Amino acid sequence: MNDGFDPLEQASLIVAHDENNAYDAVVPPIVQTSLFTFTDYDDMVASYRGEKVRPIYTRGLNPTVRMFEEMLAKLEGAEDALGFASGMSAISSTVLSFVAPGDRIVAVRHVYPDAYRLFGTLLKRMNVEVTYVDGRDEAQVARALPGAKLFYMESPTSWVMETHDVAALATLARSHGVLSVIDNSWASPIFQQPIALGVDLVIHSASKYLGGHSDVVAGVVAGSKALIGRIRAEAYPYLGGKLSPFDAWLLIRGLRTLPIRMKAHERSAVEIARRLQAHGDVETVCYPGLANRLPPGLTGTSGLFSFIVREGVNVRTFCDTLQLFKLGVSWGGHESLIVPGEVVLSQKAQPNSAQAFGISARSVRVHIGLEGTEALWSDLEAAFAAASD
Ligand SMILES: *Cc1c(COP(=O)(O)O)cnc(C)c1O
Repeated sequence: MNDGFDPLEQASLIVAHDENNAYDAVVPPIVQTSLFTFTDYDDMVASYRGEKVRPIYTRGLNPTVRMFEEMLAKLEGAEDALGFASGMSAISSTVLSFVAPGDRIVAVRHVYPDAYRLFGTLLKRMNVEVTYVDGRDEAQVARALPGAKLFYMESPTSWVMETHDVAALATLARSHGVLSVIDNSWASPIFQQPIALGVDLVIHSASKYLGGHSDVVAGVVAGSKALIGRIRAEAYPYLGGKLSPFDAWLLIRGLRTLPIRMKAHERSAVEIARRLQAHGDVETVCYPGLANRLPPGLTGTSGLFSFIVREGVNVRTFCDTLQLFKLGVSWGGHESLIVPGEVVLSQKAQPNSAQAFGISARSVRVHIGLEGTEALWSDLEAAFAAASD
């Protein structure tokens, strides 16, 4: 399935042992402080003049946050990275750093719902237009790109899990002089490294796999020093979506086990998706891990996918019978979760992306956690038995 690629080999990149650490502690301290003091007037003036790079105030620079940023940049094969208080903060700060009123964005359809709503509300009010394209159709993307400022990708897409040839799309964007951005939360840098595929900026909701324990909301963007420098200079300090030192510390801890967690999510998810596909109560499974070949650049598949149950399966009974799968949004943690499509369709949020996504009432999205394949499968089988007519 993953062409001899071994995600565990990437574990060596996740070494955040700071040689200058106080007390020779193997785990870095949390530098939980809002400000940093100066030894004297000269020290202060040198820092203000930029002759000396050192933390002054945690909204600008904090050593614990910086350690996470450096680890993530290494994992993504990027020159630099910038942490944020949420994935949405990373997305909004990145996009707002590069667009101005009158500009146009091209985005693949079915992007993360709140990114879709950001485009449809705040950016719309700023007179920034968004053209949605089917990322699988390169001719359509090529037609949309000329004159655009930014190309926003997600592969696979939320819910229906459409995958794209990321390298081909990035090359296309570059040939039209359009900055390319991708939300890489689903694959994580363990299974997809978009910088090597030619993408300019890589965004994560670190609340998902990077954190991995469902105890942090955070985000990050990685890319060249020049592009990250522009976000750091223009949007980051003033929009102020700062990653907290404690959350950065939890993310550092999460990253240590990212390669083995991703392998475990993949192993269980592939097996469960196969069994679902063969199950009489299931119509379709939307999971890239079931394809004969993964798209170029994607070397593995994670634990989030959706499936459509056949008519006659009571989705409410199905969800309420499950014991290990909990009803809940988000994903990427240790635990298995389920979201019924019919509940998402009933959401009042405007603009409502559910219709735009083609989410069907008989579809459910599951996250396959780390509870163990057989225990999770027994849970699903019992729920089907209770919910089938
Ligand atoms: C959750 C999520 C986001 C938003 O991240 P937050 O940390 O919740 O702000 C962005 N993209 C994808 C694909 C997500 O699943």
